[in-house]
Parts: sequence; C-alpha cells; structure tokens
Amino acid sequence: DHLGPTVCVGEILVEIVATTVGDGFLEAQPLVGPFASGAPAIFISQCGRLGGAAAMVGAVGDDDFGRVNIDRLKRDGVDVSTIAVHPDYPTGSAFVRYRKDGSRDFVYNIARSAAARFGWSPRVSDLINRTGHLHVMGSALSVPSAREVIDKAVDIVKARGGTLSVDPNIRKELQLDVETERRFLRLVAAADLLLPSGQELERAAGITGEANAIRRLFEIGVNEIVLKRGAEGATYFGRNGERIDAPAFLVEEVDPTGAGDCFGGAYLTCRRLGMSPDEALTYGSAAGARNVTVRGPMEGAGTRQELDAFIASTERLS
Ligand code: ATP
Ligand code: MG
Repeated sequence: DHLGPTVCVGEILVEIVATTVGDGFLEAQPLVGPFASGAPAIFISQCGRLGGAAAMVGAVGDDDFGRVNIDRLKRDGVDVSTIAVHPDYPTGSAFVRYRKDGSRDFVYNIARSAAARFGWSPRVSDLINRTGHLHVMGSALSVPSAREVIDKAVDIVKARGGTLSVDPNIRKELQLDVETERRFLRLVAAADLLLPSGQELERAAGITGEANAIRRLFEIGVNEIVLKRGAEGATYFGRNGERIDAPAFLVEEVDPTGAGDCFGGAYLTCRRLGMSPDEALTYGSAAGARNVTVRGPMEGAGTRQELDAFIASTERLS
C-alpha cells in the first residue's frame, strides 16, 4: 500500500514443545524447539511471506533465541530494524505441552524477559510515522511497554489516514484489569478490521448473540469483521449486511498454535494488496489450515506460491 508498511507491536518469543502428549513438565522429557513465536510475530511473519510490506516492533535478548526470531522474520521479508536487542534480559520463551484433551500446559518467561522490554524510541517513532496499517493483538496489551507504543501508534497511524486491525486474542475466562479492559474496548472501537475467534466476538462487542454483536460493532465504527471458527472455517461480515462463509480446508492438525495469527496476517495482507474479501478469505483460510499441518507456531506460514499450491491441492469442507 502506498501509505506504508503493515506494522505489528508486541511479544516475540521462542516456543519449545513437548513431543509427547501428557501433563506438564514435572519429569525430564523429549522437547523440540526453539521455534520462532509470539502471536504478533506470527502475524507479521505471514504478512511478509505473502509479499506485503511489513515491520515488527518488539525486543529480544542478545542470545540464540533472539537470533532465531530475527533471522526468521528477516527471511520472511519483514523489516526487523525496530526489534531491539536487549543487552541484559533473555529472549522470551514458552514451553508448551499438549494434554490428552487438547488443552495445554505452559511454562512462560515473558513478563520478565526482553519480550516485555522495549518502548517508544526515535527509530520506532520514525517507523510509525510512515506506517500504513497497524495490527494489534489483545495479548500484547498485558505487556506494559507494548501498551505505551500501541497507544501512541494508534493515534499517529489513524491521523495520517492509516488503518487498524485488532485480533482480541484473549481467552474468554481471562479477566482483564479495569484499565486494560478500557484500553481493549477503545481499540475495538477504533478498529477498521476486527478478527475475533469464537467467543471473542461477543466479548469485544460487550453483548451476547452473534447477530447482536455484529450489529453493535458496526454501530461503534468497525468496518469489517472476520470471525474465525477453527476447523469449522471463517465468516466475513460487511457493513452493509454482506456475509461470506469460507469453509475450512480439510487437513490433518499437527499443531493448532498460530492458525489464527496466520489467518489474520494473510487476510489483512491480501486486502491491502487489493483483493476482495472473498479472495482474501480464501488465502486466510489456506494460511491458517496450512500452518496447523506443521509443528511449530509459524513454521507452516506460506508464501503466495505455497498457498496457491495448497489451495489447488486441498479439499474443503462443504
Ligand atoms: P489461535 O489458536 O492461533 O489463537 P484462533 O482461535 O485465533 O487461533 P482459529 O479459528 O483457530 O483462530 O483458526 C483461524 C482459521 O484457520 C480458521 O478460521 C480456519 O480457516 C483455519 N483453521 C484453523 N484450524 C484449522 C483446522 N484444524 N483445519 C482447517 N482449517 C483450520
Ligand atoms: Mg486467536
């Protein structure tokens, strides 16, 4: 887009995954990783892979986990010059193990890692002042340094005619503190594109019932809503009552992490490249589905060519 790159602000992590299904980490066990991760980083990786102009704001430590992330995003075509390398704190990390019922156990090091230690700087200011689109993940709102950057960036990007997308990305049982909840609702109201999954739609709208939620969100100024439904597909809602249901691609799920972020990154990038909602939905759905077939949160993010090949060779739910 002529207005400038898509920018994402937030946590950058490595993920280390248990290779066996079970409960937690109380015994020595086989692990695989580090994989580049962090919801905002996955989103921007998918943008870059699809050929959209993309930049990431965040921080890593001066260690191999940090280099894994920076190298990965660089290879994807993402501008990494606003990823700070913290001299003292290690790169953020998440150890993950899937339980039998599909739920997960985590050991996190985020709040006290480099992932939470960045802020507004001359370099970030320079980037935001030429940003065309800002994407915000709800998960970044619990990181104070990200909050500061996001607050400033939203105003600047909107004032220069840029656009905003928001993925609520909060588990429904997560109780935000009053201040964060207020910030979250302000972001939702400022969003041009909202990318909720499941119950997040009603949560963002502050009202129950899908139709009520959609109506309310358009009333408060949202322009476009895409609801993600995991293996059941996704639905686009337009301001003038348009609705497009995108059936999911039929794949074998190896690792569900990152599907929503890849979906969002692909959908947004395709829209910014000038595609219709219908076309963008196809690429978003393909990006989400392809990503779950590969272990690692962003290892399955696809290029345009890879997604075209995936679309041509994969059946869809009907
Ligand atoms: P995340 O766990 O990354 O936060 P999310 O809840 O935001 O994910 P999902 O709805 O899980 O988002 O996935 C986004 C999209 O990716 C879906 O709407 C669907 O198109 C596709 N997708 C996800 N999982 C599958 C699957 N198992 N099979 C096919 N498509 C999938
Ligand atoms: Mg999500």
